[in-house]
Parts: sequence; C-alpha cells; structure tokens
Amino acid sequence: MPDIIQLLPDHIANQIAAGEVIQRPASAVKELLENAIDAGATDLQLIVTDAGKGLVQVIDNGKGMSATDARMAFERHATSKIKTIDDLFSLRTMGFRGEALASIAAVAQVELKTRRAEDELGTFIRIENSVVVQQEPVQCPVGTSISMKNVFFNVPARRNFLKSNTTELRNIMDEFTRVAMAFPEVRFSLTSNGQQVFVLEKGSLKQRIVQLLGSQYNTKLVPIKEDTDYLTISGFVGKPDTARKTRGDQYFFINNRFIKSAYLNHAVTHAYEDLLAKDSYPSYVLFIQLDPQHVDINVHPTKQEIKFDDEKIVYAFVQAAIKHALAQFSIAPSLDFSL
Ligand code: ADP
Ligand code: MG
Repeated sequence: MPDIIQLLPDHIANQIAAGEVIQRPASAVKELLENAIDAGATDLQLIVTDAGKGLVQVIDNGKGMSATDARMAFERHATSKIKTIDDLFSLRTMGFRGEALASIAAVAQVELKTRRAEDELGTFIRIENSVVVQQEPVQCPVGTSISMKNVFFNVPARRNFLKSNTTELRNIMDEFTRVAMAFPEVRFSLTSNGQQVFVLEKGSLKQRIVQLLGSQYNTKLVPIKEDTDYLTISGFVGKPDTARKTRGDQYFFINNRFIKSAYLNHAVTHAYEDLLAKDSYPSYVLFIQLDPQHVDINVHPTKQEIKFDDEKIVYAFVQAAIKHALAQFSIAPSLDFSL
C-alpha cells in the first residue's frame, strides 16, 4: 500500500485557517477597524456594498506601512504587535495573532494602499488567492486603505452560507458599533451602498452612546466610575426603565475590547435587584481597565471570550460599583421608580 498523507498546498491551508477568523463580511469589518485603531488612526471610514459581500473597505489616517511591511502584512503569523508569548500579557493592541490580513487575502480579492508620513510615495498591492498579483508605488494620503472584494469568491460553498443582506448588514453594524463605542475620541463613518449610515464626530462617551444607540438614552444614563488597585470601571448603565425584554444594548469592554461574558452580565443584572421588571434586561456600556497581566485574551480567535486570573474579584467589583451608582442617583432598590 502506498503512503497516503500529503501536505496541503499553502493556499488551501490558508483557506481552511481563514475560516476561523473570517466567517462573514462582518468579521473582516472587525479586523480591519481594529487594525486601523492599532495604527493610531483618528479617522476611520468604513465603506460596504452589498452588505459587505461585494466590498468591505476601511480607510484610515493611521501610521501606514513601508513597502516591505505592506507585503509582509499578508503573511500568516506576521505581526508587528508581539514578539514573544509573554508580550500577550502586556498587550495594549487589539491585534496580535497576525492572521487577519492573511485570512482575508485567502478568501477574497484584496487591494491595499498605504503610506507612511516619511515616505513620499505609498504602496499599492493587489492580492488574489493569497498571491500578490500587482505591487507598485502610488500617490496616496498618509494612512491605509484596505479593500476586501467578493469575499469567498474562491470558496463557493462558504459564500452560499452567507445570510441575507439584511442579516449580514446587521452583523456589520454590530461590529462597527462595538469598535466605535470603545473609541469615542476617534471619528468614524459608515457608508453602505453609497448612503451614509453613520457619521460619528469625535466626542464624549455619552455622545457616542446616544449617536449609536439612540436619543432615548439622552436622559437615561447613570454614570459609573470606580477605581481599585486591581481595576477601574467606568461607563454608564441605563436607568431601570431602559431595560428591555430582549437582550439588546449590553456592552462590556475589557481594555477597550468588546467581550461577551454571561458571568459579568449576571453581575450587572443582579446589581439592579428588584428595580427591573421580571424577564427584562438592563442596558449598559461598561469599560473595565486592568493590567493586561490579569487577563488572557488568547482563548478564542475572535477574542470575544477572555479569562481573568481572578474573576470573583471582577464580579464583586462590578456589582458593587453599579449598586453604588444606582443608589447615588436615587434609584436604589428601595425606592419606587415607576413614577
Ligand atoms: P495583527 O493585527 O494581529 O498584527 P493583521 O493580519 O491584522 O495581524 O495585520 C498584520 C500587520 O499588518 C499588523 O501587525 C500591522 O503591522 C500591519 N497593519 C495591518 N493593518 C494596518 C493598518 N491599517 N495600518 C498600519 N498597519 C497595519
Ligand atoms: Mg489585526
């Protein structure tokens, strides 16, 4: 019998690996926006067509890349953000896996334009099936523009798994909202099929929440702010009458990274005690800042799950901070707030 094991060709291995990072157009939105933030951008434009199935483009005014780096950026495990595994525990950037651009380049047609302030000319690169098919100097503004076109054009089975435009656009708006919420000091815009959906000028967190979630929050936000040696919590919780029957406006950020945590959600919900109607969910936008050595973010490729070294401390602190704030705003559980 002949031996039967073969190494997969690179482009197929890349396509398989890409599946973890890029599941839908919204995954690319998250990765590209986070890269722009990591590059120090203060102005981010997101442009999509056909709910991201045709185009996802992010234009930033960040630090740009050299010609060599621009090419390197699309290699798998190529990153400027960490050098050793220990760096993960002092990480201040959104990215570190060096997989997003390689993944996007494996499953879509990509065009990049980038220029650093010190370079007179920028770099244009076009990639298909993970292969650079064009590279040349180009005149362009300082910063980076990356376009992902026709996602999954070369993986038809995956393309067939995409949902309706309504659903895919909703996913894109969710990712956009999560990043824009975490960085109110940065200007963001979102254009879909040529129409402006959001133009978010830089401002306060409260302004950003109202812009993103609606003016009903204007007079309904209770500020949260407490510090310990271990962590800082800040942000807003909604007054009890903003609670909803469906889990909706709930945002938790750890060191500016949006995360999903049933455990922390439980801490918030319980802080309201009987202020909430039965089966309703409070609204909140909460930021926990703590030394990165206390969190492990390398639990999942999308980084939406994390582990704390001491999650009981975090739970207790979140709950106490919210109880405290609700009490200060005279909406302690003992008072009737239904009037
Ligand atoms: P990661 O963000 O995990 O490092 P990516 O694949 O997302 O991996 O990006 C690879 C590298 O390309 C980054 O480490 C960064 O150096 C560079 N890069 C990506 N996007 C940008 C951008 N918008 N501006 C400047 N550099 C970028
Ligand atoms: Mg990245």
